[in-house]
Amino acid sequence: MKSYLPPIILCCLLCLFSFSCQKGSTLPPKATGKGSDSSNIDRLNDVEKQVISPYKNWEFGSKAYLHTKNILDIGPRPIETEGHKKAQAYITTHLDKFGWNVSRQSFKAMTPYGERSFVNLVARRKDAVKSPNIVLAAHYESKIMDGFLGADDAASCVGALLEIAEHLPSHENTIAQQMELVFFDGEEAITPSIEYLKDGLYGSIYYSKYMRNDVAGDKKTYLHIPKIGMVLDMIGHRNLSIKIPSDTPKSLLKSYFAVIKKHQLENRFGVANGSILDDHYPMNMIAKLPTIDLIGDFSSKSWWHTNKDNFDNISENSLNLSIQVALEIIKHQLAKSGEQSKFSNENPSINSQEIWSKTT
Ligand SMILES: [Zn+2]
Repeated sequence: MKSYLPPIILCCLLCLFSFSCQKGSTLPPKATGKGSDSSNIDRLNDVEKQVISPYKNWEFGSKAYLHTKNILDIGPRPIETEGHKKAQAYITTHLDKFGWNVSRQSFKAMTPYGERSFVNLVARRKDAVKSPNIVLAAHYESKIMDGFLGADDAASCVGALLEIAEHLPSHENTIAQQMELVFFDGEEAITPSIEYLKDGLYGSIYYSKYMRNDVAGDKKTYLHIPKIGMVLDMIGHRNLSIKIPSDTPKSLLKSYFAVIKKHQLENRFGVANGSILDDHYPMNMIAKLPTIDLIGDFSSKSWWHTNKDNFDNISENSLNLSIQVALEIIKHQLAKSGEQSKFSNENPSINSQEIWSKTT
């Protein structure tokens, strides 16, 4: 589940998160301007690759694509189902193979259908630094809907994380050592129609509260709040169109623009006309971890939350592009932190109108 968040509601949510630690919330999506997604530009051939991306390096995408297929072969993966358990096993087995320690963050949460069980999967390198500086996350469960597979929402994002988990240690291990990979459970609302402030984002809310309490308390899984957060959601669809929330923390927004400008990707990577309620939101608001949400322009996708979000919807090229942009944003942030010697843990609640006016 994800939805746009009008500014007034943003303020209300901020108050609720701050003072009552209430469960995450969602708003009914504004299904504005549903568009056609029938472009055939994602057929894999060298000419097309050059057209789609100015990147020279095409090493990403194929493994994420294969992981996506394997996850979809499991079938639907709603919470507390066999498919859900199989998805956990798939993720854990591969992370372990790539040299990551996986912990299960199990918890129960009250939903509109009573108390339900959830499991976040949290992974760090075996040779990790004591407390992670970077959190890279995606949700792994699929929405409860008959026959719904959730190929880009969000099996493709799990595939992307697994490809990154395999690639980074052998190519850029200093980044891998600072990274925590998180596979959120319960991002989707359980009810078919979203109930504001009562449904969805269960995993990211639990994770964010845990981190905050841990830093303040004695357990010390985290010695400090990490410096960079990134959520991937719907980043592998054909005819790629990414629109990040307009209230993305400024520092991350700058890195985002630097990367897309450098590679002339403005036609595929933009900014939504408003806030978006997704897993980045509790990370920003509860954990106070500045987090960017690389998210597909769901409101313009006719396949979003329908059974058309199947493997045919996924493009190896789109995965490649999204993975490279994601990693470059992280590297840009790390380079900046090197220059500044330390990160500023900025307030992510920024003036979205100001950002929007600067980006259009
Ligand atoms: Zn969804």
